[in-house]
Amino acid sequence: MSPLDIHQVPVLSDNYVYLAHCLETGDTAVIDPAVAGPVLDAAEELGWTISHILNTHHHNDHTGGNLEIKKRTGCTIVGPRADRDRIPGIDVQVGEGDSYVLGAAEARVFDVPGHTRGHIAYWFEGATALFCGDTLFAMGCGRLFEGTPAQMVKSLDKFKGLPPTTRVYCAHEYTQANGRFALSVEPDNADLVSRMQRVDVARAKGEPTVPSTIGEELKTNPFLRSDSPDLQRTIGMSGGDYVAVFAETRLRKDTF
Ligand code: ZN
Ligand code: FE
Repeated sequence: MSPLDIHQVPVLSDNYVYLAHCLETGDTAVIDPAVAGPVLDAAEELGWTISHILNTHHHNDHTGGNLEIKKRTGCTIVGPRADRDRIPGIDVQVGEGDSYVLGAAEARVFDVPGHTRGHIAYWFEGATALFCGDTLFAMGCGRLFEGTPAQMVKSLDKFKGLPPTTRVYCAHEYTQANGRFALSVEPDNADLVSRMQRVDVARAKGEPTVPSTIGEELKTNPFLRSDSPDLQRTIGMSGGDYVAVFAETRLRKDTF
């Protein structure tokens, strides 16, 4: 399976839009175009012709560029079946277990409700790339706007089993703030301490900290670590139920 060339476009205050380009066929997908202008400009500079938009969820900072990009390129818009009424210009509806072919690459689709009820993620196994929108962030996870802690745990569990080398292309640069919170609940996690040092250096230079990898997240992301004895002890829930610990961690982050 052909690998994808993936280009990151920073837009708005902290969003990342991605261009994923199939080297064999030239097909190019935009993942979660918050806006149109900078994405069209980036594609033009790269010499890539946009053929698809892949949306993870309906929020405007992920779909705001849909209609303008479709108007300018005639691209096909792919999005969550469960949220078809909230995805501007949707052409193809996908959900759990579906595959979507982009040129010579193929994405497997996961339903990952929690942040929104119709949120999906795209896993390109051959390109070791996961586009997870606002479900999993570097050292964080999305706020639970339309879902329960139990739903979000089930959604995040789908990512935990992916190969550790899988690159996590999340949709926001929230890493530094997430890491500060992570340290507050797992202060003795040596992997977390050293990751935060690298993140602080990168951010001081204005460099992106995304993508990370599933392996890094498993070691340092508190929202994948509700079974960590250290985390449980810090929040006063030693031996606590996994979902209850997750719910408490998420609640604390909301007001951190
Ligand atoms: Zn969102
Ligand atoms: Fe967002």
